[in-house]
Amino acid sequence: MTKYIFVTGGVVSSLGKGITAASIAVLLEKRGLRVSLQKLDPYINVDPGTMSPYQHGEVYVTEDGAETDLDLGHYERFTQAPINRYSNATTGSIYSEVIRRERAGEYLGKTVQVIPHITDQIQTAIALGAQRGTDVAICEIGGTVGDIESLPFLEAIRQFALEAGPGNACFVHLTLLPFLRASGEMKTKPTQQSVALLRSIGIQPDILVCRCEQPMEPGMAEKISLFCNVRRDDVIEECDVATTIYEVPMNLEENGLGRSLCRHLRIEDAARPDWSDWQDLVERVAHPEGELEVAVVGKYIQLHDAYKSIYEALNHAGAAWKRRVRLRKVAAEEVADRGPEACLEGTAAVLVPGGFGERGLEGKIATARWARERGIPYLGICFGMQALVIEYARDVLGLREANSSEVDPDCKDPVIDLMRDQRLVQDKGGTMRLGAFPCRILDGTLAARVYGRDMVLERHRHRWEFNNHYRQRLEEAGLRCSGIYEARDLVEIVEVEGHPFCVGVQYHPEFKSKPLAPHPLFRAFLGAALERLEGGGEEGEDEEEPSRPLGATRSLSR
Ligand code: GLN
Repeated sequence: MTKYIFVTGGVVSSLGKGITAASIAVLLEKRGLRVSLQKLDPYINVDPGTMSPYQHGEVYVTEDGAETDLDLGHYERFTQAPINRYSNATTGSIYSEVIRRERAGEYLGKTVQVIPHITDQIQTAIALGAQRGTDVAICEIGGTVGDIESLPFLEAIRQFALEAGPGNACFVHLTLLPFLRASGEMKTKPTQQSVALLRSIGIQPDILVCRCEQPMEPGMAEKISLFCNVRRDDVIEECDVATTIYEVPMNLEENGLGRSLCRHLRIEDAARPDWSDWQDLVERVAHPEGELEVAVVGKYIQLHDAYKSIYEALNHAGAAWKRRVRLRKVAAEEVADRGPEACLEGTAAVLVPGGFGERGLEGKIATARWARERGIPYLGICFGMQALVIEYARDVLGLREANSSEVDPDCKDPVIDLMRDQRLVQDKGGTMRLGAFPCRILDGTLAARVYGRDMVLERHRHRWEFNNHYRQRLEEAGLRCSGIYEARDLVEIVEVEGHPFCVGVQYHPEFKSKPLAPHPLFRAFLGAALERLEGGGEEGEDEEEPSRPLGATRSLSR
């Protein structure tokens, strides 16, 4: 029977609830348990797919094509948990379903209400999110206790836990212990009040995880225990980490969270978990052998969360090469204004992430040209791949007006264009090409050396595609189409022949990179940058991995 952990947050938002939930999952996986993870978001959008990255950060795409909250990215990076469309539900998705059922007559004769109909539907979503064969399902409630919108969710988890019975459900509440500089002390009152609020809703937290900038002062945990009605050893400190978020699971283990969870869920906690893989990872991140600067040229660079998975994937690859990745975040518009040289000079590699709309595209195209002409490693993701294709068509094929019909619907040479099925689409939500598609990797290409296999599954989120009308001409001019979605003959990867690493991918490899298993494309990208700077770096102990980034790039170097 599946047991449940509900994670709520209090005092302020952005406490790192997602990372804490993911870390809880790691603690349990380390004890040999199968876990699932789910995020419930109280906003009214059906999914975050239609929100601006500035509102919400990146939209994380699951294998089965759901557009979801970026916390699911943490879940997937930290754990082995199955993450799919059931791993995220919102007020919007819950209400849509209830209203659909009402129209279908499923509640005939009844007044449809928040309690029990909405709360029942939330409980159904929780049960679905627990997936099949799970020992412990972890469910994170977005927002902060006290928000109007989260009330039905809190009521639903209260009912759910009651039904599950003692020992089968556990409430973890994440709070903040602010440090007041003026008086030089850490305060517990916000935590007390946040717990009081939760208790007024009928939820007594079992475990309090207290976020703080520095270790708790003596006596503080006792005080929190007393005022919040939580046992002393269920008050867990979660201090800011010095180097990387991947320290968090081990810190929480050290502070007794694993033990505490097992006690509440009545799980035998005999085996001593082996943390050597995470220790090794943190060690690599904490003590790199050098630095590598990567420019990320995008539209939303002011907000770190907007390209969260990309930055994480770069960190994973950096750790594999024992290098700290220094990010140079460049606004694409600035490249268009000031020129690429002024913005990018001195950087070891350039990454152009995905994006939408006209703003910044010319800067991305200029960036691709700058990197291509100088032999500087370039990785274009989605819109970044499209920018490379436009650049190549304009500069090498001489099609001066080449563009994407997304930004110039009447352009003479739409080298990036809409497929017929997308032309008919009217609704914006959930209608892009979404989720994982198989990509055939062609022999003898850089992509083949990078991946070391001939078929990969990668995730998509876009409408526009490489226009096959121009394929032969571009290939003859040296832009190799090295990855194909065969069912519809779509170009998924392009690479510039003779360049150490100038690659564009129509999909989003960043969603499949994990700290303990960096994505081969990101590894090869940084490997090429290292080779250019240092004539090659020493990779760690991952000799058995199929992709050998250095070998791949060396054979193509000029
Ligand atoms: N705007 C482009 C498209 O829809 C690229 C999307 C993206 O980069 N995710 O095709």
